[in-house]
Amino acid sequence: MNELFSASPVPSDTASSLPGIVIIGGGLTAATAAETLRKEGYAGTITVIAEEAEVPYQRPPLSKGFLAGQENEDALLPLPASWYPEHQVTLLTGMAATELHPDAHTITLADGTSLPYTKALIATGAAPRTIPLSGVDLEGVYTFRTKADSVALKAALSGGGKEVVLIGSGWIGMEIAATASELGNHVTLLGLEEVPLSAAIGSELGTVFMNRHKEAGVKFLLPASATEIQGRDGRVSQVLTTTGAVLPADIVIVAVGVVPNTALAQQAGLTINNGIEVTSGLASSSPDIFAAGDVANAMHPVTGMRTRSEHWANAIASGKVAARSMVGRDAVLDDIPYFYTDQFDLGMEYSGYGALTKDAELVIRGSLEQREFIAFWVLDGRVVAGMNVNVWDVQDAIKELISSGRKVDTLTLADPQTPLEAI
Ligand SMILES: Cc1cc2nc3c(=O)[nH]c(=O)nc-3n(C[C@H](O)[C@H](O)[C@H](O)COP(=O)(O)OP(=O)(O)OC[C@H]3O[C@@H](n4cnc5c(N)ncnc54)[C@H](O)[C@@H]3O)c2cc1C
Repeated sequence: MNELFSASPVPSDTASSLPGIVIIGGGLTAATAAETLRKEGYAGTITVIAEEAEVPYQRPPLSKGFLAGQENEDALLPLPASWYPEHQVTLLTGMAATELHPDAHTITLADGTSLPYTKALIATGAAPRTIPLSGVDLEGVYTFRTKADSVALKAALSGGGKEVVLIGSGWIGMEIAATASELGNHVTLLGLEEVPLSAAIGSELGTVFMNRHKEAGVKFLLPASATEIQGRDGRVSQVLTTTGAVLPADIVIVAVGVVPNTALAQQAGLTINNGIEVTSGLASSSPDIFAAGDVANAMHPVTGMRTRSEHWANAIASGKVAARSMVGRDAVLDDIPYFYTDQFDLGMEYSGYGALTKDAELVIRGSLEQREFIAFWVLDGRVVAGMNVNVWDVQDAIKELISSGRKVDTLTLADPQTPLEAI
C-alpha cells in the first residue's frame, strides 16, 4: 500500500507530497475510475485529462435516445459536472496528453505543460476506423463516436426524408440505421456479411434484427461495400458499390468499427497487442501505468484468453478494477462480458464469452418470430453465453448459469416452463 492511500471514505485533504494519480481520457472508464478512487478512500491528488471539451460522458445514448432527440445531455453524464470539484478532482477538458514518460513519471500535455504522476491510468478509448475511399471528405459524410458527431448527425437527420447510406452493418451501424429510420429517413445499409451482426451472434439471430429493420423500410445491400463516394459541389450525392448498384445519398455514415487509441502508450514503449496489453489487474508492461476500457486488452482469468472489450459494462467494470489496483487493492477484471443494444422495439442484453461461441450449439427458448426469446450458446454441455431479446430480468440467471459451469440439458434449457434457476 502506498502512502497516498487513506482509509477515510471521504477525502478531506488532497495535499500530498506525492504527485498523485493522473487519468488520461474523458470517457466512462475515466469517470468510473475517478469515482472509484474516492470511494476507495484515496485521498491524494486526482487529475483527469480529457481531450474533448466535455465533462466525461458515456456514448450509448449517442446512437439511440440522444440522436433521436428523446434524451438530453444529462443522460450522457455518469457523474454531474459538479462532482469533480466537490471531490477535489481536477478535470482538464479540451486538453490532450501528448507524451508519456515512464522513467521520469511525467505526462506532457498539448499546451507543453509537464505533469508528474505517481500512478497513471490510460483510458483513451477508441476511434472510428477510417476507410481509404474516394469521397470520404465530402460534406455529408460522417464517422460516429463523439457527442459532437451525434449533435451534427441529429441536425442532418431531423425532419426526415433524406437518403441515408450506412457503410457498416455492425452494432453501431444498425443502431444508427434504426434511429435514422424512426426519424423518417430512407436508409440503406451496406455490410461485408450476408447477414448483419452474424460475426457476433450468427446468421439466425442476425436475421431477427435484419427483419425488424426491413419491416421498418430499411434496405440492405449484403454482402457489399462502397467503392466510391461521389458528390456535387463538395456535397455527397451518391455511393457506388461493389455490386454495381448506385445509391443516391444525402448523408453517408461510415461505421466500420473502431481502433484503440494506443498512440500515447506506443510512444511510451508499452507493450501493444490489439490495444494496450494488461494483466487481469490492468497493469501495463510499465510499472505504475495501468490501462482500462476500450483501449485495454486484458487477460481474462476465467477463459485464459485476452479480451479487448468495446462495451459500456466493461468501461465501468475495468474503471473500477484499475482504480482499485492503483491504490494497492488485489483487484481482478473477471466479470462475464456484458453488452446491450436497442433497435426499434428490440431490446437486447448479452452476457458471455463471445470467443467460446464459435463452435457452440445454439439453443433458443421462446420465439424468434415473435422476437421474444433467450438464445443460449452451449459448449460441451455448458452455457458459455446468453442473449435475451425483449425478455427481461433474466440476466442474473443467465450469468449464474455461465459462471456455475454446470452441465445443462438443452431440451430443458429450451423449455420456457422450466425456470432458469431450476436448470
Ligand atoms: C455511438 C456509440 C454507441 C454505443 N452503444 C453501446 C451500447 O449500446 N452498449 C454497449 O455495451 N456499448 C456501447 N458502446 C460502446 C461504449 O460506449 C464504449 O465501450 C465506451 O465508450 C468505452 O469507454 P472508454 O472510456 O474506454 O472510451 P471512450 O468512451 O472512447 O473515451 C475515451 C476518451 O479519451 C479521450 N482521449 C483519447 N486520447 C486522449 C489523449 N491523448 N489525451 C486525453 N484524452 C484522450 C477521447 O477523446 C475520449 O473522450 C457504444 C459506443 C458508441 C460510440
